[in-house]
Amino acid sequence: MNRNIVAGNWKMNLRLQEGLDLAHILASELGPADFAQAQVILGAPYIHLPGVVEAVQGIAGLHVAAQNIHQEDRGAYTGEISAEMLQSLGCGYAIIGHSERRQYFGETNALLFTKVQKALEYGIKPIYCLGETLEERENGTTFSVVDRQLREGVFGLNAEQFGSVVIAYEPIWAIGTGKTATPEQAQEVHKFLRGQVAQHFGDDAATQVTLLYGGSVKPKNAPELFACPDIDGGLVGGASLKVEDFLAIIRSF
Ligand code: PEP
Repeated sequence: MNRNIVAGNWKMNLRLQEGLDLAHILASELGPADFAQAQVILGAPYIHLPGVVEAVQGIAGLHVAAQNIHQEDRGAYTGEISAEMLQSLGCGYAIIGHSERRQYFGETNALLFTKVQKALEYGIKPIYCLGETLEERENGTTFSVVDRQLREGVFGLNAEQFGSVVIAYEPIWAIGTGKTATPEQAQEVHKFLRGQVAQHFGDDAATQVTLLYGGSVKPKNAPELFACPDIDGGLVGGASLKVEDFLAIIRSF
C-alpha cells in the first residue's frame, strides 16, 4: 500500500485568482505517474475552496483540504465554517491542530479532538498536526509532548475512525523558519509516533497510517526526508505557493 501524501498549506496567502491559477496549473501539470508516487492535497483558504474543488474535479489523486473547521454542527458562531459546509462543497480533508491554530487561537488537544471527531462525522479526513516547540526540544521533552498530542487528539477515536486520519509531525521551530529537522531527527520522531500507533491500535493501523513531516520542506531537502522509512511525505507551507517548488517536492519520492 502506498501511504505517501504531499499536502500544501497555503495559509492566509494568495488573492483569489492567484490561488485558482495555482490550482489549475497543478491540475494540468500533475499526472498518473505523480499520483502513483503520492496523493496530493491542496490546503486552501476558505474563499478559494469552491474554485479549487472545481479545478481538481475528476482528477483522482488530487484533493482539497480546508485549514480548519469548527467543532459544532451549525449555529450562532459568526465567522466560522462547519464540517457540514465543507462536506457539501466536496472538500475531502481538513488540516486540524496546525501549530499556528494552537498558538494564535488557543486550540487545545481537547478541542482538537472534538474537531477531529466532527470532521470524521461528515466524511472529512483530518490531517492532525502535532509537534514540539524549540524549548521543548531543548529540554528533552519532545517525545512526551507529541505523545500527549497524539493521545489527547486522536487516540480517543475507534480504530475505524483512526483509519481516516493523517498525522503531520511539524516541529514548531522548523515551521516557516528555514530550519528543517534533519532526516535523522524527523525519522526518530516518526518512528516513535508509528510505534505509539502500533501500541494503541495495532500493527496494521501503524503500517497503514500516513505520517507527514512539516517544517521548511523544500525541493532540496525533500528527497532525503521522504527517503526515511517512517516519513510518508510532507505538509508544505511556503514552498507550496510556488508551482515549480511544489512540483519538485511531489516528485521527490
Ligand atoms: C506548514 O505550514 O505547515 C509549514 C510546515 O510551513 P513551512 O513549510 O513554510 O515551514
